[in-house]
Amino acid sequence: MELLKKRIEEEGKVINDQVLKVDSFLNHQVDPLFMMEIGEAFRERFRQDGITKIVTLESSGIAPSVTAGLAMGVKVLFARKRKSLTLKEGLVSSKVYSFTKQEWSEISLSSEYLTSDDRVLIIDDFLANGQAAQGLIDMVKQTGATVGGIGIVIEKGFQTGGDTLREQGIKVESLARIQSLQDGRVTFFEEEEVHV
Ligand code: 5GP
Repeated sequence: MELLKKRIEEEGKVINDQVLKVDSFLNHQVDPLFMMEIGEAFRERFRQDGITKIVTLESSGIAPSVTAGLAMGVKVLFARKRKSLTLKEGLVSSKVYSFTKQEWSEISLSSEYLTSDDRVLIIDDFLANGQAAQGLIDMVKQTGATVGGIGIVIEKGFQTGGDTLREQGIKVESLARIQSLQDGRVTFFEEEEVHV
């Protein structure tokens, strides 16, 4: 998605050769009009996949998921990172290692909102080593629903998550794929821009 690459080039801050900061439109401040375009891009890429629900992880996955849900006409369920007094019934959980916090945590969601008829699109802001995505897949499967695909706003293609998920036969679509963050510069993989 050319517009996304442009925003990353103009506003992204390379923290080190592993981490990119895009707080101006995705991870802290949210640009709603741009998020609408991201939602449309996900709809284009998953329009043939029979998606009935979107599942994401709080908090940065929520904005792109809601605009994708709006574009696709499906509801959005977000997994919680902390236990909540009001989230107790029929919980499914998974342990994930957080790339940015460098600690293990338990994520959970209520199985009340997913059925075995659901075909789920998992959306997240970043894909690094795939821990968050694997945890979400694990929980979706525990509810009996099917994973129909994974939509990522920014994939760091030099980390292992994308390859591992694709090797599992899962359709993974990233709106921008970063090849490297070396020397403070963002380099993208050249992609066939057939979808958007
Ligand atoms: P993974 O679980 O794939 O290793 O990492 C993905 C998760 O870590 C995402 O949910 C995202 O919040 C966070 N993350 C990973 N890499 C980055 C990064 O370079 N920048 C930011 N802002 N978040 C990242």
